[in-house]
Amino acid sequence: MSLQRICYDCGARTTAPVARCDCGEPLWLDTDYGPFDWSDTTDEPGMWRFEALLPVSRPAGLAAAAGGTPLLSETPLDTFAGTNVHLKLEGEHPTGSFKDRGSALGLAAAEAGLAGDVDAVGTVSHGNMAMSTAAYAASTDLPCVVFVPDDIPPERLDVIAQFDPTVVRVAGDYGRLYEQTLEQGPDQGVVFLNSDVPLRVEGQKTTALEICASFAPDVPDALVMPVSSGGHASGAWKALRELEDAGAIDEIPALYFVQAAACSPIADAYDAGKDEVTRVTGGDTIAYSIANADPPSGTRALRAARDTGGAVVAVDDDAIRAARRALAVEAGVTVEPASATALAGTKQLVGRGLLDSSDEVAVVLTGTGLKEASSTGTPASASDDIQLASVEEYLTEFAGAIE
Ligand SMILES: *Cc1c(COP(=O)(O)O)cnc(C)c1O
Ligand SMILES: [Zn+2]
Repeated sequence: MSLQRICYDCGARTTAPVARCDCGEPLWLDTDYGPFDWSDTTDEPGMWRFEALLPVSRPAGLAAAAGGTPLLSETPLDTFAGTNVHLKLEGEHPTGSFKDRGSALGLAAAEAGLAGDVDAVGTVSHGNMAMSTAAYAASTDLPCVVFVPDDIPPERLDVIAQFDPTVVRVAGDYGRLYEQTLEQGPDQGVVFLNSDVPLRVEGQKTTALEICASFAPDVPDALVMPVSSGGHASGAWKALRELEDAGAIDEIPALYFVQAAACSPIADAYDAGKDEVTRVTGGDTIAYSIANADPPSGTRALRAARDTGGAVVAVDDDAIRAARRALAVEAGVTVEPASATALAGTKQLVGRGLLDSSDEVAVVLTGTGLKEASSTGTPASASDDIQLASVEEYLTEFAGAIE
């Protein structure tokens, strides 16, 4: 059995376990969960409290640990951003990013027989998604195959390999590889949980569900999140539509998406007033996790921003570094550069008058900085070098200097 899918754009439906509509746009699950209000959440851990809005209930294994990340409010970063920011700490997940939500739902659906015939799961990724899919698969009986680009740095490969998936380095066009696995996987019994497939999007709805639940019965004015493939953005949009349809929110928060200026196909299309996102020639950025020059759900993300009264913006690497540093120094929160774009983007939106100081803004910090502590731009150094015998003297001076 496979769950019904529908095209957000042309409305075509299918029960085949495919990811793309005949029109070329991505499909998402065709769901009708019926009435929902906030009292319909359960005591299940993490994202599974929203069982009423998910196609499968909590499975065993690591999937039980996905979701339920903290929302941190009233931090000094309100001053940095110029508005009231609420930091959604997605880096708290078992593998350090929101990708765990989609991996958990994807594996749960595969195991429950809701993803067609399944012998294995797979993904195409060089970073967080590969690690997440491999980890969640490791806690099930399903084997996992990960296709990575042939130029992947060895330290990134190590991080993925620890969960013992089959790792295959592939030379050739990465965007083509992404689509080809989606086309060929179903016939081979391999469910590819790539970044914008219906099952992953369905799981990644839960970021926005949790944010809205934290504000209920109020609604945040805006959600700001980094965007690359558009999978997470699609999930947020689907969540908000479903909450509105169910009557659980009476106003839809604006969805703002942020890209790195060096590789910003969705922001470019937004600025140009286009309806479709097309491939760009991306340059280098420290926000490598969001540097997709040809985003498979770019057009859907663009639609999500426009439909909710939001926007898509781009921030340069200096702004990303400044935001990343502010998060660490002022709030003790470590994020990877891709995630810092959300705060940098919020600051820019306030500067441009698209958000104002009275707004309540959920800033989605998509991934932890613990996987790579450096790249703040300033190499770390010690303040002093002393001998053990001098510790007391040092502390006396240190304490004296504080007063
Ligand atoms: C994958 C990822 C993103 C982008 O998500 P998409 O669904 O590809 O748009 C943002 N931040 C981090 C840390 C990621 O791993
Ligand atoms: Zn279509």
